[in-house]
Amino acid sequence: MSLRLPSRPKLRLQTTLFALIVSVILPQKLIGEESTKKRTDATASSEITLGDLSSGKVRVLDLTYTLNSETHYWPGEEYTPFQIETIATLKKDGVYSRKVSFPEHIGTHLDAPNHFEEGQQDVSEIPVEMFIGPGVVIDITLQAEANPDKALSVDDLREWEKENGPIPSGAIVLLRTGWGAFWSSRVRYQNRDARGELHFPGYSPESARWLIEERKIRGIGIDTMSIDPGISKTFDVHHIINQAGRYGLENVAHLDKLPVRGFTLIVAPIKVEGGTGGPCRIFALLPEHSEVGKN
Ligand SMILES: [Zn+2]
Repeated sequence: MSLRLPSRPKLRLQTTLFALIVSVILPQKLIGEESTKKRTDATASSEITLGDLSSGKVRVLDLTYTLNSETHYWPGEEYTPFQIETIATLKKDGVYSRKVSFPEHIGTHLDAPNHFEEGQQDVSEIPVEMFIGPGVVIDITLQAEANPDKALSVDDLREWEKENGPIPSGAIVLLRTGWGAFWSSRVRYQNRDARGELHFPGYSPESARWLIEERKIRGIGIDTMSIDPGISKTFDVHHIINQAGRYGLENVAHLDKLPVRGFTLIVAPIKVEGGTGGPCRIFALLPEHSEVGKN
């Protein structure tokens, strides 16, 4: 293909058009972008890009507790603590290797949709796209201090949105109850009464339904051992979440280190065929300038 120089009149027209673009259209476009930027600053100033990630301009927080023999697990009858056994040593075998056993619902873990509902996906079947999404932290620490049976209400969610803007579609919502401070004490973390009933905060069924129907969230998480409050006997929130094909995250660590929004979550559960859930790593990706722990 050969390039032909345009004739002079055409060139003049192009020059005029170019001048018009530079003098009028382009500045307006820039102003437009600037004002759009200003409009979104309030809600999305701390969004990160893949470029930020690869250039190291992102802080990564690990929201995962380390698994060991002390790690909390759901106190059900057949549940057993994390166990580990050495099966080969460097001295004897030239290689160090161990084998582990644990219930699926131990430590920082995911509840798969098949945990409480028939015909729903097991942990290995959840599409990976469900594991990456914008993170949001709802803080009910003060309310939970006054009432350990506190359940997040739809009003609490509306209140949060009034201050922080709408919860983004596809968000992974984390409920900060202050319970993370009790992780080192089994007694305090479970908070049983004289009859042995558990008392810790959670989501209300209405709040779970609202997050699914009105905000199309990917999943919900909490810094206690259940997305339902400790006193629940019917596990309504588990049922609602699982019926909708969504997952729960329990015993999520270090929620006190997160801002209320403006970060991305990556959830990486163990991939066991048929699994009702399982231990997972959870990473929060934050812009380097974000104010950690800011409410
Ligand atoms: Zn669980």
